[in-house]
Amino acid sequence: MDATTEPRAAQTSRGLLLLLMVLTGTGPVALNILVPAVPRLAGLFKTDVGTVQLTLSLFLLSFAFSQLLLGPLSEMTGQTTTQEGPIESTPEEDERVQFVSFVLDDAQATWAKLLPGRYHPAKLVLFRERVQSGCGTAESAMGPFYCPLDEKAYIDLGFYEDLRSRFGAKGGDFAQAYVLAHELGHHVQHVLGVDEQVRRAQQQRPDMQNPLSVRMELQADCFAGVWGHATQQRDILEAGDLEDALNAASAIGDDRIQQRMGGGVQPESFTHGSAEQRVQWFRRGFESGNPESCDTFAGG
Ligand SMILES: [Zn+2]
Repeated sequence: MDATTEPRAAQTSRGLLLLLMVLTGTGPVALNILVPAVPRLAGLFKTDVGTVQLTLSLFLLSFAFSQLLLGPLSEMTGQTTTQEGPIESTPEEDERVQFVSFVLDDAQATWAKLLPGRYHPAKLVLFRERVQSGCGTAESAMGPFYCPLDEKAYIDLGFYEDLRSRFGAKGGDFAQAYVLAHELGHHVQHVLGVDEQVRRAQQQRPDMQNPLSVRMELQADCFAGVWGHATQQRDILEAGDLEDALNAASAIGDDRIQQRMGGGVQPESFTHGSAEQRVQWFRRGFESGNPESCDTFAGG
């Protein structure tokens, strides 16, 4: 700790010196601007020069003194902008974090049962705005993603709001669960080696890059459905939950997103699949509960 205080003190005093130099220079400049303006101000406000001077002086003085008072006060009570460590969360966010953790544990337990001896758990990283991942820096605008290099699923806490407002999904708990289950689906693909096979195939056939990406995404949707099946078996789904998930799946279909962006729908640029495809594959996993039914790569 001591090692860092000394250079900081030296830095502060150099900063103060610079500030004083600037302030000394500001005085004459400000006066040169202010003095000719006073008679005009008096004219504009239909008053005399003395009152204008008094008003301005009082304003500047109280502004300066209030800064002296408010500065230390906000240091004492408020939060500084350069706060490090955990950020305070709202009760709504806490609830979301709890829910997401529950879904993650439940989904991982399901996959451990479905792939005994093969499955190993992924980690979850919740973030706001920006995060450093094993796959590079991520902005919240990118949406949730899975990074196979560090085997972590990254979920932006603001995404669930977006899901409702920007993508027009109805929201609902199971819609949130679906988003996480889809990312975990990518982890399952990683565990099974599917992602590596797809990457190699994409390198060999650059023209097939997007169609292969779609198949990969649809399989993750189907895997999310497989977990949905397991929750249904244990009766923890509520009425309307399945509809919530299907609604979210279709809201983030490539065609829907392209429509909302105002452009035409271009199927050849799809990377995740259409709303109909996403719903169809989620449903297939949900009905079978069997990951083997999720062969989106079959047939070419
Ligand atoms: Zn995905």
